[in-house]
Amino acid sequence: MHQLQCKCGVVRGHINTKGLHNRLICYCTDCRAYARFLTKAAAHAQTILDTSGGTEIIQVAQSALHFSSGQEQLAALKLTEKGMVRWYCQCCLTPIGNILASPTGAFIGLVHSCLQRAELDADFGNEVALLNTNTALGFIKQRGLVGVLFRFLLLLIGERLSGRYRQSPLFDAAGLLRVSPRILTEAELQQLKVAG
Ligand SMILES: [Zn+2]
Ligand SMILES: [Zn+2]
Repeated sequence: MHQLQCKCGVVRGHINTKGLHNRLICYCTDCRAYARFLTKAAAHAQTILDTSGGTEIIQVAQSALHFSSGQEQLAALKLTEKGMVRWYCQCCLTPIGNILASPTGAFIGLVHSCLQRAELDADFGNEVALLNTNTALGFIKQRGLVGVLFRFLLLLIGERLSGRYRQSPLFDAAGLLRVSPRILTEAELQQLKVAG
């Protein structure tokens, strides 16, 4: 079990670490825009991005995610109409993670900021894939993509066949998102992407 907590401590929960997972750093410009959206608005500086503009992410099944408090503080953001749903805490703007807009998407890419840095190796292993490195700020060599895709597919198939995807805390029983995401305007997105 891995503890999940926002910076101010209002949102708390845990992740069941027994299932399939991926550990990766994503250097895509969408993850970077999401981080910038949160850090720009936050009163205190948070270190979401690494020095090359990457976001460390732990991918798990949404059914492995459990909230114990502060769920009413969860807010959601979409960079574009069709984009991923990016969750964060309204209380302190700690990012939680990214999901697809459909419940059958089944996974969540948890952003490291809501996790326990000291326990990451023990709970999720020390192999970190590096993805979307062509948009990194500086030269980073991609690694681990095949393994990530393979485990991702296995996770998806397992969640779908077992019906566990219905146990996501982020969708209601009717399969609707519990919070309707705010969608950025094109101008807002451009501003967040301006620095690469
Ligand atoms: Zn908080
Ligand atoms: Zn990304």
